[in-house]
Amino acid sequence: LLRVEGVWKNYHGHHVLRGVDLEVAPHEVVCLIGASGSGKSTLLRCLNLLETVDDGAVWLDGWEITDPAADPDEVRRRIGMVFQSYNLFPHMTVLDNITLAPVRVHRRSRREAVARARALLERFGLADKADAYPDRLSGGQQQRVAIVRAMACEPSVLLLDEVTSALDPELVTEVMGVIRELKQAGMTMVMATHEMGFARDIADTVCFLENGVLLERGPAEQIFTEPREPRTRAFLQRVL
Ligand code: ATP
Ligand code: MG
Repeated sequence: LLRVEGVWKNYHGHHVLRGVDLEVAPHEVVCLIGASGSGKSTLLRCLNLLETVDDGAVWLDGWEITDPAADPDEVRRRIGMVFQSYNLFPHMTVLDNITLAPVRVHRRSRREAVARARALLERFGLADKADAYPDRLSGGQQQRVAIVRAMACEPSVLLLDEVTSALDPELVTEVMGVIRELKQAGMTMVMATHEMGFARDIADTVCFLENGVLLERGPAEQIFTEPREPRTRAFLQRVL
């Protein structure tokens, strides 16, 4: 579904991604792990065209999204992204936050967008929050709304960057529950996380990044129990 080939990215001569290759199959959940600064967020941002790649290419279903002629709005409709800081628009209700992109960018009818938004809010236990403003919601609720907002565009792939790390521990569980449900529904996801327990639990595949190199990739169980690379092992020993 998603194919990353030889992606390089540098900032001011500092190589942040060094020839990353990655394939993501339909319905697969891939977790990116690695130390702070290893390039996880940068890789996700390249997949969503928030960064341009210096070399290499990214393909979605045979469509090269890193082609300069690719329409970023269409790329972002098909590859949704959720951030650590939920980035909801504070002056808009939950419902307006969710329907903004489908109506304004993707020219859906407002009625259709509202119906879809309400169905998603219902599904994730937020039906009574449709008319609330973000500042009246808990962090966990805001993050769930941010996930609903990304899902409202019916993306083929959802990218999640540390979506639980700004939350109090008791709120982490409810956001993880949403992600778990999306997995059960077959959503393809690529997520960066520092929550190793969650990665082990939800990921089909785990990728370990070190200094912009995708050093090791394998089934979650294998990476966590018997990593092949000594450096993956050393990282896991430090964080587990
Ligand atoms: P964390 O676990 O802390 O989120 P990460 O693995 O997501 O880390 P990135 O945010 O991708 O790491 O950063 C990788 C490297 O790129 C870091 O050295 C960072 O300082 C650098 N970097 C990221 N964004 C920029 C930018 N816009 N300009 C300059 N350097 C950047
Ligand atoms: Mg990051």
